[in-house]
Amino acid sequence: QKELSLPDLLDYYFKQIEKHQHLNAFNEVFFYSATNQAKLVQEKIAQGTAGKLAGMVIGIKDNICYKDHQVSASSKMLEGFVSPYSATVVERLIAEDAVIIGRLNCDEFAMGGSNETSYYGPVKNAADSEKVAGGSSGGSAVAVQADLCLSALGTDTGGSVRQPAAFCGCIGLKPTYGRISRYGVIAYASSFDQVGTITSSVGDASVLLEVLAGADDYDSTVAKLPVPDYQAGLLADSAAFGKGTFKKKKIAVLKETLESEALDTDIKNAILNAIGELKEQGHTIEFVSFDLLDYLVPAYYVLTTAEASSNLSRYDGVHYGHRNMEATSLNELYKLSRAEGFGEEVKRRILLGTFVLSAGYYDAYYQKAQQVRRLIREKMEELLTRFDVIISPVAPTPAFKIGENIDDPLVMYMADIFTVLASLTGIPAIAVPLGNNYSGLPLSVQLMARHFGEQDLLSLAHNFL
Ligand code: GLN
Repeated sequence: QKELSLPDLLDYYFKQIEKHQHLNAFNEVFFYSATNQAKLVQEKIAQGTAGKLAGMVIGIKDNICYKDHQVSASSKMLEGFVSPYSATVVERLIAEDAVIIGRLNCDEFAMGGSNETSYYGPVKNAADSEKVAGGSSGGSAVAVQADLCLSALGTDTGGSVRQPAAFCGCIGLKPTYGRISRYGVIAYASSFDQVGTITSSVGDASVLLEVLAGADDYDSTVAKLPVPDYQAGLLADSAAFGKGTFKKKKIAVLKETLESEALDTDIKNAILNAIGELKEQGHTIEFVSFDLLDYLVPAYYVLTTAEASSNLSRYDGVHYGHRNMEATSLNELYKLSRAEGFGEEVKRRILLGTFVLSAGYYDAYYQKAQQVRRLIREKMEELLTRFDVIISPVAPTPAFKIGENIDDPLVMYMADIFTVLASLTGIPAIAVPLGNNYSGLPLSVQLMARHFGEQDLLSLAHNFL
């Protein structure tokens, strides 16, 4: 039998995308550049000079810039905008011979948890097309779930890689803040934003992290720490696991997260089962109390809306994207362009953010939230001196119905309770699938580790699948 060539594989994915158009995962397929890249890489494969990602067909969330390609953040504001440069993550993918197949639907400016705020409409969950994909990287998750590409990049500010991965039965990794460059990634909340991966195997997550991580002259918030060989680490740990010499981990389960009334019973049971398995593997498990749970969502939304209001001030109808053509003064131009270009959720957040930063309220909200963030971080860091890994759910429920929560922002925000913890702290976290419930909807667990402890997460997730 003839070996499948990369152009053939790409063709397979093009057909898959065509067949699954109703899922609305792609904002655009890069037929031309992907086809060219596949041919080029195929030649390199034949010559034996191909990079680490040769053969990987990957989609990128539509808030990651790729030179000479459109990027919209799923907003009318950026409709038709062509990026003059590539994000560092895109440069690194291409340097290792990945094929970028297209840009994936997401919540507008990555603000949302269901992919329903997209200007291009919601993404549908491939397990049940009445259900949301999760968000904001919903297109990224569904593309991997429905086999429209091998893996995908997303961004995670407060759960946007982990939660859609959980809703779609994929592996979603949010690395440590500062592990991967944000250069060329459309900013939402800069002290939280991080590029993450959605994959169907831990191996793919490892090789991607290895390629994407590491210092970047264009982003001073990236750590200068050397990048481990995550794949080799994973292999070594799996071998040790097979021989029973795997270093046993100290694992903490955040008690309040499992006791939370909002938590779906199937998720709870699946996590309890997983904990049982980990115990059997010889790890020590302790249930610990985390008393700051109620402060997570408020602190997260005060800080991220503040940062968002500042980041989104650049969309003024002059520099980028949508411009109202009837305005007769500069102020009117700003007003009308922004009123027409932004969707409801984005406007809500700009207003909230402007409010919490305004004179007279700054101390009461923004500064307070920063102090709370510090407390949360200290508490987590203290826990992580005693434990290697921390367990919680990813989301309180499996994928919900499209339209069910979209009119109630508070319900939507509260659903981020378990994911924003790692984001406020800056630690790495991974969503790991735990099978499906009786209706066939994926269930998932979240593992968190110390800053730059991605290897621990990858190895544990791998042993556990
Ligand atoms: N749902 C969260 C929010 O709306 C997370 C979004 C994200 O991580 N980009 O802010």
